[in-house]
Amino acid sequence: MKIAIMGAMPEEVAPILEKLQDYKTTQYANNKYYEATYKGVELVIAYSKIGKVFSTLTATTMIQHFGCDKLLFSGVAGAISPTLKVGDLIIATKLSQHDLDITAFGHPFGYVPEGAVFIESDKDLIALGKEVASEMGKTVQEGIIATGDQFVANEERKNWIGDTFKADALEMEGASVAVVCDALDVPFFILRAISDAADMDASFSFDEFLETSAVESAEFVMKMVDRIVE
Ligand code: SAH
Repeated sequence: MKIAIMGAMPEEVAPILEKLQDYKTTQYANNKYYEATYKGVELVIAYSKIGKVFSTLTATTMIQHFGCDKLLFSGVAGAISPTLKVGDLIIATKLSQHDLDITAFGHPFGYVPEGAVFIESDKDLIALGKEVASEMGKTVQEGIIATGDQFVANEERKNWIGDTFKADALEMEGASVAVVCDALDVPFFILRAISDAADMDASFSFDEFLETSAVESAEFVMKMVDRIVE
């Protein structure tokens, strides 16, 4: 077993690297990959850089080049659902690309031929996530995550994404990682801690809460790893 742990930004993987302390750094495809052995299991950790293209490259690299056979993503997101507050965790049940639009041809938003509007996360990893949440005494919401190459800081756009995809949170990498894992048949789990409400105050909230929310998410994902390796 070889587990990929991915984030988009340095702050999202720093708490994981801190916990591991001993790891090997490999430079590949304009990025750094950190390899470690944790409780007898191999881990590959990386932050992709922001957005769908970089996260696609990193997820593909972790699977095809480093040989990972499970992928866990840890990071922060903007909330759509009013029940999600800063610091709360959301497990993606399925993910969609909110900025994928060939509706001019009569297709739904998020769809291209031979693709799918939604990609579903691995059911076993979701079930494990729920067990970990109850062990930790944490309330973790499950829901739909919408991904696009936009930092959403606008109530109107946020509400449109919420209405169109029934999404509960939005970010910039989850759905692209999901597409890669689905195509390569690798079970994946996408966890996000809320950093902002994707409204006009989003950039300020993001800057204030990025670090603490990233730690919330990383700690949860490491608890998942503990359960996977035991
Ligand atoms: N602070 C960064 C930019 C962050 S972009 C800089 O200045 O360099 C936002 C990142 O957090 C993305 O990786 C995305 O996945 C997530 N995210 C958090 N809130 C978001 C929001 N409201 N809209 C889109 N992505 C969001």
